[in-house]
Amino acid sequence: MPTCSEARASLLSLLRGAEHFNTEVFPAKQTLFASLAESQAPSTLFIACADSRINPNLITQTEPGDLFILRNIGNIVPAYGEMLGGVSSAVEYAVAGLGVSTIIICGHSDCGAMKALLAPEKSGLDKMPTVRSWLRNAEAARAALGDLKAEDAGPANVRSLSEQNVLLQLSHLKTHPAVAAAMARGTLFLQGWFYDIGTGEITILDEQSRKTTSITDAIAHLESIPA
Ligand SMILES: [Zn+2]
Repeated sequence: MPTCSEARASLLSLLRGAEHFNTEVFPAKQTLFASLAESQAPSTLFIACADSRINPNLITQTEPGDLFILRNIGNIVPAYGEMLGGVSSAVEYAVAGLGVSTIIICGHSDCGAMKALLAPEKSGLDKMPTVRSWLRNAEAARAALGDLKAEDAGPANVRSLSEQNVLLQLSHLKTHPAVAAAMARGTLFLQGWFYDIGTGEITILDEQSRKTTSITDAIAHLESIPA
């Protein structure tokens, strides 16, 4: 837990950042912000973990207005009807309201949620009943890895679980009526990603083969499809 003076320093740093944004950064991009002042038309719903080390706009080299971003613990999308709330309404609004053409679900390395699923006792989940309950929406990904023990929560298994979780959440996403309707019309692409924090590498998770592909191969594949 932070001390009182650390909490003060952290808030001060945020306020200085906001001041710098307002006086230096905003004026330099005034045209962009003016174009966004009264409407948005993002192409993509980007679903990521709330982890502080992921910056969706940075890793996709996009600007404000490009991504409609939904973040939560473990980049989870409960199946439709399980929990109607923040996640399902953001998905519905992005697809039926804003008409996004792409949904990315992005998992990541060293994910605390995935580590907690692998080793609940070590992660202090007994003190976090809400997190424990939320992570039930990823339990099937944990089951897909077979019989692992708490000591198996190393980086390789955390990565495997993150990948399984992205595939699971993609399947949950398809149970949402707005998503199912847009997919039936052929106007929506869904894709799973895995982001490695230590190397910056993003890999694409193929749902059919359940294997990973490099970005280069995914681009080549997409370019080979006639427009
Ligand atoms: Zn995470």
